[in-house]
Amino acid sequence: MTIGIWILGDQLHLDQAAIASVKTLQSPPETPVLMVESHRWVQQRNYHKQKLVLVWSAMRHFAAELTAAGYPVTYFETDTFASALPRFISDTHIRELRVMDPADLPMRSRLVELASSLDCKIAHIPNNHYVWTHQEFGDWAASRQRLVMEDFYRAGRKRFQILMSGDQPVTGRWNFDKENRKPARTDLEFPAPASFEPDRVTRTVIDKVERDYGSHFGSLESFAWGVTRTQAWQVLDRFIQTRLDRFGPYQDAMVTGQPTMWHALISPYLNLGLLQPLEVIQEIERAYRENRAPIASAEGAIRQILGWREYVRGLYELYMPTGYSDLNWFDHQRPLPEFFWTGKTDMNCLHQTLQQVIDSGYAHHIQRLMILGNFALISGINPQALEDWFHSAFIDSYDWVMQTNVLGMSVFADGGMLATKPYAASSNYIHKMSDYCEHCRYNRKNKTGNDACPFNTFYWDFLRRHREQLGNLGRMGLVLANLKRLSPEQLADIGDRAQAWWEVQSMSRSARSSS
Ligand code: SF4
Repeated sequence: MTIGIWILGDQLHLDQAAIASVKTLQSPPETPVLMVESHRWVQQRNYHKQKLVLVWSAMRHFAAELTAAGYPVTYFETDTFASALPRFISDTHIRELRVMDPADLPMRSRLVELASSLDCKIAHIPNNHYVWTHQEFGDWAASRQRLVMEDFYRAGRKRFQILMSGDQPVTGRWNFDKENRKPARTDLEFPAPASFEPDRVTRTVIDKVERDYGSHFGSLESFAWGVTRTQAWQVLDRFIQTRLDRFGPYQDAMVTGQPTMWHALISPYLNLGLLQPLEVIQEIERAYRENRAPIASAEGAIRQILGWREYVRGLYELYMPTGYSDLNWFDHQRPLPEFFWTGKTDMNCLHQTLQQVIDSGYAHHIQRLMILGNFALISGINPQALEDWFHSAFIDSYDWVMQTNVLGMSVFADGGMLATKPYAASSNYIHKMSDYCEHCRYNRKNKTGNDACPFNTFYWDFLRRHREQLGNLGRMGLVLANLKRLSPEQLADIGDRAQAWWEVQSMSRSARSSS
């Protein structure tokens, strides 16, 4: 019986589970492989053009790698998966098609639908692109009363013996988070990350995307992402050699004109399968053990992968079947402002961050959380509209990453299933961690008045509108005590200003749609 393999666009590794499951049964030349670029699938969202190029170019390079390894690869550019699968099955005469479980639940559901109409058995092979399996995370979660990230992270450190000395953390401390919050400095050097000139394959995909998806979000002018495992390793190597040392202390800082700072830029490659999380973690640990990186930096980077990345993926598997994607704890219903797609806003922090996303599909985690997510939270933007935008706009976005990160972490739509309190902040935080306010037309010190920073207006209005709900959260006591210092007149003025801001948005939206 011949077994075939279908490899999805985020499963680009020679040891991925479906390939590995067949290796002892059939040789590569006996194992037909299918890869599909489905236009219908990507038309579901206004995906960033660079994301489309990255995924399709990486798929085409991986198909070439599989061919070089002896696999007969069928590569379709087609409208739908449904039109590709029957052709592949009848052309190759396979009796079983193996697919590694998709990380995203919508794709998993699509697979079940497709299977019902095929004249071939479809076998789901458990996904091996994460450090913890779905079952292992579920077992850990079942043993806990509260699913706290730090507890999960420490369990991972012990289980995989990462930065450990026996059963204790190296240096005696688990977490260097407090050393990871140095504010922005513009007088430091910012080493450039590894970047790549598009090769012939990538240029062909760029032409296709410009032709067929020219109106999609984002710019293709400066596409410089790696599209192979070799290039992904170069990105990781460059990070460890030139930027890991300062990543730790400055990972929350933001500086105008420095979109990447000391960040690793490896999330697109981890999420495509080009890099495996445990190998990245071990490489960063090696740098620490060989005195090439300080502990606060190595631990901070490892926490992002072994902690946050694995944790949000585990929660996604746990929570999504219970209707998590529809949660809206604050009942926020404002529409996403148009400037999220154009970058055209006079709020400099938002303008700088959004322009970066337009140019590259990338913004680092504090820009995502404390500029974009924070603004959406305090101004009352609908969480599902925001999640759709994040999923469309970012180079490393997938359903499994964005649902929990955006709904839970960014805008607290789950009422505290993931975070213990909302990440709401006024301009004070943005001023402390960036230089954006220095070049902004708004006055960061003002809550009211014509030049008041909208982050201040919305922050106090958010506290005013939700004080009762927030009062039940425990960790908001100090913040709500500050709200009591504002007079009823000040609060009324703040409420009016917030309302007026949305009225202006609504008028410009109507003017645009009628012109
Ligand atoms: Fe952003 Fe307000 Fe600072 Fe302007 S003043 S950059 S709007 S926080």
